Amino acid sequence: MAIIGFIGLGNMGLPMARNLIRAGHELLAFDVVPACLEAAVTAGATPAGSAAEAAAGAELVITMLPEGRHVRAVYLGPDGVIAGSDPRALLIDCSTIDVATARAVNQAAGERGLEVIDAPVSGGVAGAENATLTFMVGGSEAGFARAQPLLQQMGKAVIHTGPSGNGQAAKICNNMLLGISMIGVAEAFVLAERLGLSAAKLFEVSSRSSGQCWSLTNYCPVPGLVPSSPANRGYQAGFTAVMMAKDLRLAQDAAQSVDAPTPLGAEARQLYALFVNSGRGALDFSAIIKMVAGDL
Ligand code: NAD
Repeated sequence: MAIIGFIGLGNMGLPMARNLIRAGHELLAFDVVPACLEAAVTAGATPAGSAAEAAAGAELVITMLPEGRHVRAVYLGPDGVIAGSDPRALLIDCSTIDVATARAVNQAAGERGLEVIDAPVSGGVAGAENATLTFMVGGSEAGFARAQPLLQQMGKAVIHTGPSGNGQAAKICNNMLLGISMIGVAEAFVLAERLGLSAAKLFEVSSRSSGQCWSLTNYCPVPGLVPSSPANRGYQAGFTAVMMAKDLRLAQDAAQSVDAPTPLGAEARQLYALFVNSGRGALDFSAIIKMVAGDL
């Protein structure tokens, strides 16, 4: 059992922290929002007064923060994780952020003899609650080997994707593909309806043909076809359109930084930005079908 610093106890961080407490670890928790910290204390964590305090004395530090700028502040600040950590600690950032920040924080930690690995997740709040997350890990072999048993207690799959930053690269490539495929599925169902082909018949055909994909068979944006799909509960998220828009923006920033042509990723980013701007960002990302159908 380990002493773990846990920083960022929001929608994802809190249930992840609960699973570690259930597994018998001792948690030192910190969040800038008092209610989030209190919820972690109720779950059995010890409160810390700053990120540095949560990191001090911990063998492992986990962060689950909104964006790259929060990760920079929490790691690099004078009251931050790098300044506060024991040199033998392993630092694990599970936030979804830009590749450049992940690598910059890893480098800053390296200058103090520490390693930060990037370990963003897929699986959403339900995956965090049920410990069925997928972790995509960028970092050294040694860092991965040390983190794996702990991450396994919060997830069902822990995959080493290469050196620092490659976890974030895997996450944004996957989610760019997901955003594009969801729009593609939405377009197919809207076209089918206008052609007089029922949604049920298109589903029956495409789920067994070359158009088959996860967005269709696991998360169909049309109600009544896949029982677990958010379409059946008014598009209650799930994975919000705001989150998808954020990941598509990260993918475009990354694509630009390496001059990779991603025209469909760029289009998907614009469509999700429009959808969020229409006031529907809190809906599940599959609700984009409403906009594709002309409900602007
Ligand atoms: P959230 O906003 O609910 O939680 C983030 C927490 O970080 C908040 O409690 C906030 O108060 C805290 N925080 C912000 N700045 C801080 C600081 N300086 N010091 C300490 N705490 C600070 O977000 P979330 O939904 O838990 O998502 C976290 C990350 O996981 C994001 O990067 C997101 O993209 C990613 N993610 C989310 C989902 C999802 O379905 N929610 C799925 C996969 C990945």
